[in-house]
Amino acid sequence: MHLIPTPDEVVALLRETGALRDGHFEYPTGLHSNEYLQVPLALRRYQNQRTLAVGLSRLLRANSEIRAMMPELSIVVPATAGLPVAYGVCEAIRARQVYWAERERDDQPLRFRQYVEPQPGEPVLLVDDILRSGSKLAALKALLDAAGARVVGLAVIIHQPTPNTLSFGSLPFYYLAKLDARYYVDGAHCELCRRGEPVEKVWV
Ligand SMILES: [Zn+2]
Repeated sequence: MHLIPTPDEVVALLRETGALRDGHFEYPTGLHSNEYLQVPLALRRYQNQRTLAVGLSRLLRANSEIRAMMPELSIVVPATAGLPVAYGVCEAIRARQVYWAERERDDQPLRFRQYVEPQPGEPVLLVDDILRSGSKLAALKALLDAAGARVVGLAVIIHQPTPNTLSFGSLPFYYLAKLDARYYVDGAHCELCRRGEPVEKVWV
């Protein structure tokens, strides 16, 4: 394994831990795909968490602007699945703190825990295990922007874009590997459905 794992090394690690699965999947949004990824399955092993988080932190160090603000940096995640990555990156770059947002229920807005308040001007790095639709990360960024924090970058282990992935404009964006799954807007347009392959519903 390289100091910054190559995309092939990352994909191999995801496959051997069962985090990356081939098949025929249906997302709650109705999208169908030939590939499904659940990064926390790979992060169950501490050594994997370390390898991936340290690799990601090395990419971040290459950005001199982010490197200069590391002691002041807050690492903020949009859901608890990103926490192993966030703490691993925090340890590797000696950032100031980690905190996260959450939803009480899926239909409720993202929010921080009581008394957790981003400060005006606070430099913030958004971190998660994966960027797929980007909807949670976009909601998190809006929450931080509204509090006056300064979002300086976005870092995830895996970038798995869908046809509907949101854009984060010119925000510096870091990831260890990009996965190009095949997506179909719904069952009626799905090649795998047409071939009669059994479909598995995934939760997220
Ligand atoms: Zn299908």
